[in-house]
Amino acid sequence: MNYDAFFEQSLNDLKSEGNYRVFADLERHRGEFPKATNRGDAEKEVTIWCSNDYLGMGQHPTVLNAMHDAIDRVGAGAGGTRNISGTTHHHVLLERELADLHGKESALLFTSGYVSNWAALGTLAAKIPNCLVISDSLNHASMIEGIRHSKAERKIWKHNDLADLERLLAEQPLDRPKLIAFESVYSMDGDIAPIREICDLADKYNAMTYLDEVHAVGMYGPRGGGIAEREGLMDRLTVIEGTLGKAFGVMGGYIAASRDLVDFVRSFASGFIFTTALPPAVAAGACAAIKHLKTSSVERESQQAKVAKVRDRLEQIGIPHIDNPSHIIPVMVGDPVKCKFLSDVLMRDHGIYIQPINYPTVPKGTERLRITPSPVHSDADIDALLSALEDLWAQCQLQRMPMAAQ
Ligand code: PMP
Repeated sequence: MNYDAFFEQSLNDLKSEGNYRVFADLERHRGEFPKATNRGDAEKEVTIWCSNDYLGMGQHPTVLNAMHDAIDRVGAGAGGTRNISGTTHHHVLLERELADLHGKESALLFTSGYVSNWAALGTLAAKIPNCLVISDSLNHASMIEGIRHSKAERKIWKHNDLADLERLLAEQPLDRPKLIAFESVYSMDGDIAPIREICDLADKYNAMTYLDEVHAVGMYGPRGGGIAEREGLMDRLTVIEGTLGKAFGVMGGYIAASRDLVDFVRSFASGFIFTTALPPAVAAGACAAIKHLKTSSVERESQQAKVAKVRDRLEQIGIPHIDNPSHIIPVMVGDPVKCKFLSDVLMRDHGIYIQPINYPTVPKGTERLRITPSPVHSDADIDALLSALEDLWAQCQLQRMPMAAQ
């Protein structure tokens, strides 16, 4: 086989489908989120509209100071795996903070949200004898890969469809171990799972629940504990999983659960055991962000106001978007080449950065621009975004929502 020819052909196929990923080479500016310099394009100043630093905590002085302070006191790296010298006091404090955030006995850190899902789900599914995993059809790749890796039997339930979930649960003997894996806020459509009803079914059929709150932690609930906190359901979930890389502005992932479950994953998950611990300064920064968002709702409220404003304006000018109850605004384009073109023109002519979301991240035909307003986008930023989208929609003769076409 000519290996290089194979690689080149595969990449060319992606390019012709409009699905080849091109990174924006950005330099974020300390304290100036959502502004950045596009190093890949004549050092142009851009406004970022697609970041998962949802609340701007990655630039928050409290977080930056905590990280500086930690580096000054304890240095750069953790120096080892958690088991072999890499557990620093910052990790211990952060795990306590996370357990408290979710009202659980214990929490366990991983190097990313991806790894936490892969390792925790993979370990539970593999090690609990005869475990059946019942997984929502739109679950994130990290959950899917973890479940696959476990080699446990799995069944997929139709996205957020309680009748389908119950059908799958009811087929199984009541005493068979079952694990229902799902998310609270789904990252691409921004819809929210019926967590209470899922917990009711889990109780009825004697199943465990594993909830990914990656897009909700820090964002919802009086202390930023996520949708489960907002709905008063944290104690009904077996495992809550989250990230430190989105609303908390840094990086890392975690699970929160009972002491024994966490100790079990800690003891058996290779994705936890055999990898270097997060740098202590990262743990310190995340801890500062969590503590801040436990007591301050300013960021959440301001962000929700910005989201409402962008939605209203999209509605007024008839740009098609998914109407959902979350902070994620998917503007629907429905074609990978057009989606990439819109993103390129927004960047080139308007200094607006929105990464196109194409297959396989979303199904073919549902390509979109995923907009995530933050508390620090100004009214002028919003005006600039909406007028650019309006111009482009007219220029490319893209479909409008029926309301505005009248
Ligand atoms: N779960 C979901 C639902 C996600 O969308 C993501 C990443 N976008 C992850 C887990 C992985 O989190 P992290 O980025 O911290 O690895």
